[in-house]
Amino acid sequence: MAIALEGRPVARAILERAREELAEYVTQAGHPPELATVLAGDDASAAAYVRAIHRTFDRVGIPVRDVTLPGDVAESELRDAVERLNADPAVSGIIILHPLPRHLPAGIASQLVDPAKDVDGVTPYSAGRLAVGLPALPPSTPEGGMAILEHYGIEIAGSHAVVIGRSPVVGLPMALMLIAADATVTVCHSRTPDLPAMTRQADILVAAAGRPGLVRPEMVKPGATVIDFGVSFVDGRMVGDVEPAVGEVAGALTPVPGGTGAVTNAILVQNTLRAAWAALGGRRAG
Ligand code: NAP
Repeated sequence: MAIALEGRPVARAILERAREELAEYVTQAGHPPELATVLAGDDASAAAYVRAIHRTFDRVGIPVRDVTLPGDVAESELRDAVERLNADPAVSGIIILHPLPRHLPAGIASQLVDPAKDVDGVTPYSAGRLAVGLPALPPSTPEGGMAILEHYGIEIAGSHAVVIGRSPVVGLPMALMLIAADATVTVCHSRTPDLPAMTRQADILVAAAGRPGLVRPEMVKPGATVIDFGVSFVDGRMVGDVEPAVGEVAGALTPVPGGTGAVTNAILVQNTLRAAWAALGGRRAG
């Protein structure tokens, strides 16, 4: 039976380090950094995500400022609200919640945030730095996946990693981070002709498709590590992309819930501190 790669111990370790770093930061800066959330409209999942962000940041003692805009917000109003946060020296990080109301142009969030405050790695600037191997603030979800691999001592260098999904928020940045960590990486997507033939080669298999039951036991190499980012709801239950029976073949597997999702907000804390240090003039090494 596969080892369960639980996310909570990983999140706890990241937040523990963040608490220590925060104390050091406050000593130098005289105040804690602050995260700003921007929520437009009344999407229930986005509102729930804001509450989850508050819970995690409260555990460390980093304040969170919520900017709430109506569902019919004009593009210019959203732009002005984010510009104010970009210009506010008290704000170290900004996250714009998705989904945004449909009348707003697709991808607008990634164009508004100052890259220096882009703690969820959504801007083309952050994505470009990640792609060319420069220090960057990557999207928090795949960075959490990397933190899980590191925490549990999974060997990445020299492994063959297969990533299902190429979205700019999960699959693609995960593939880039695995390449940077010296894995040989294959990226699969909806037009990949023979997915099982690809996945069976994986020492590390990453599922980020949002398709429940996509990864079945016969698609997994015995002993492989499987990271499941999928979040779907079937009959009111949260499920991933990976069938639970994969646990009988894999060597290690992230559970859903309690796997990758449990780490994302801890990474957001870590990235907020990184952005704050950088704004302070990089006075902290690392
Ligand atoms: P997305 O933008 O819809 O991208 C899905 C990717 O999967 C696309 O690249 C798509 O291929 C590929 N795909 C879809 N069906 C496939 C199939 N049958 N075979 C192979 N590839 C397939 O989704 P996303 O935003 O990346 O999110 C992926 C999943 O992660 C979702 O379940 C989402 O809820 C979850 N998520 C989890 C967290 C977390 O903290 N755990 C955070 C964010 C998102 P094409 O490019 O060809 O369309």
